[in-house]
Amino acid sequence: MKKILSVLLCVSLLLSFSSLAFAEEQKEPPVLFVAGMNTRELVFLDDGSPAFPPSGDRITSSILSAIVPLLVNGILMHSWDGAAKALCKAANGIFEPCKLKHNTTSLYNVGIQEKPSDTTSAEVYENGGEYFFTYDWRFSPLDTARLLNERINEILANTGCEKIRLYSHSMGATVVLSYLDLYGYDKVDKLLLTDSAFQGMDFVGELFSGKVHVNPVSLTNFVCDLVYGTDYAWVGGLMRFLKTTRITDAVCKLANDVLIKNMIDTVCEEMRDFVYMLPGIWSFCPAKDYPACRRFVFGDTPDEEYRIIVFKNDYYINHVQARLKDILDGALADGIELAIVASYNRPAIPIVSSSVNQSDGMIDLKHASAGANCALFDKTLGAGYKQAINCGHNHLSADHVIDASTCLYPEYTWFIRGIAHSSGCSDDDAFCDWILNYDGQPTVHSDPRYPQFFNYDRDTDRMTILGTAS
Ligand SMILES: [Zn+2]
Repeated sequence: MKKILSVLLCVSLLLSFSSLAFAEEQKEPPVLFVAGMNTRELVFLDDGSPAFPPSGDRITSSILSAIVPLLVNGILMHSWDGAAKALCKAANGIFEPCKLKHNTTSLYNVGIQEKPSDTTSAEVYENGGEYFFTYDWRFSPLDTARLLNERINEILANTGCEKIRLYSHSMGATVVLSYLDLYGYDKVDKLLLTDSAFQGMDFVGELFSGKVHVNPVSLTNFVCDLVYGTDYAWVGGLMRFLKTTRITDAVCKLANDVLIKNMIDTVCEEMRDFVYMLPGIWSFCPAKDYPACRRFVFGDTPDEEYRIIVFKNDYYINHVQARLKDILDGALADGIELAIVASYNRPAIPIVSSSVNQSDGMIDLKHASAGANCALFDKTLGAGYKQAINCGHNHLSADHVIDASTCLYPEYTWFIRGIAHSSGCSDDDAFCDWILNYDGQPTVHSDPRYPQFFNYDRDTDRMTILGTAS
């Protein structure tokens, strides 16, 4: 009898273990989408009114209050200093609620609402088993990573899962990288990093060292792209006419040699307590530009009052951004699956020299792809170009714009031509779903439907295979 009982006990134990194992097997790790900058708007927390983006009224009143001093100083008194101060007054009026104190806390009672209760905002917190993480973009990604850690723990506790899949967009990658650096790899199962700011943007490297330059070609491309397919498409034709007749060149030369040259120092000084005090924006400064930018804003020896912000910036740039390879290599060694997706072939904001770079309109492709060798915007690598590193695969895009062999992870990096930063399409969603649900480490060779290079068509809103150079 004893024997029968023990056999029965064993069988029931085995059954319960196997059903447990079956239940474990069925449970896919949840996906947490770590959003880009300003996905949730900043509000005044006491009454919920908009802080950033600012209300239309605040924009109008700020601009109106600056027009008279700008005209009086610029045209009547020929005072560049006065005109620059008037311009900054308008900008300051618009951005005032975003200001941080020197200790990097908010100057006003401004932030994002923790758990939005209304239906629209609830979609950016949790929606049918999909999880979202949004944050106040003004703060250092290191500070935001602490909140991400809390959110991950909360989701894992609620779902009973041990691991999570992190899917980031843009600035989200700076937060994910900071999280991995601070908290390690134990709770992560997969990383999907799209249009990432993890290597910064040349745009910020230039602006934070006081360099502004309007490029006539970039300006033309930018405006044409902006009005494409809208009621103002005719403006694109006008811009191309102005470029061909060299009128744009003359206007840009005037802007660079007179306006910017005479106003830049005052503008930088006036913006010191606003833009330059945002650690979130500092995280976009590429490591190679950081020493020069730090010196430009804070001098050789930063004043005591800037100790906290400089410490946070130093730590993020030197310990997280500059260690991208170490952090991601560590993740891979720990069994985490990795995929990087970068978009390109959209004109960049034309107020810096680097606007000639290939980008998704916001982040330079060489940075978002972690090291692709790519041609400048509207150019190709040239007919005689040979792939830089021979790994036995073809990593040259069919449009001769990208050599992906120089990426940190050429087998795990995908490219979409023609999609703008922060936009997507249903084919792109399906592609990301494929990555997130792929069993194991997906590569650019895993599935013929999802090779390394895609083309997005704005007119049809569809993504097709671009393929490799023949
Ligand atoms: Zn390869």
